Amino acid sequence: MSYQAFGTAPIKCSKRKCDWKGYETDLLRAAWKTSKCPKCGCETYYFMTESEVKQWERATQAATQVKPHA
Ligand SMILES: [Zn+2]
Repeated sequence: MSYQAFGTAPIKCSKRKCDWKGYETDLLRAAWKTSKCPKCGCETYYFMTESEVKQWERATQAATQVKPHA
């Protein structure tokens, strides 16, 4: 397995209730401490699986899509 460059791999918060998704660059930084989820402040996160990434991309695309004649 190879790792992607920092900030390029989609991640999700480890707290299932939180369900925050984004990139490592979106995490809050606390000085020398580890990065935190911007939503719940949790310090652990998972890298999304391929199917999760696809699902997430579909969801964000649907959310940003503007329908001119709805
Ligand atoms: Zn969170």
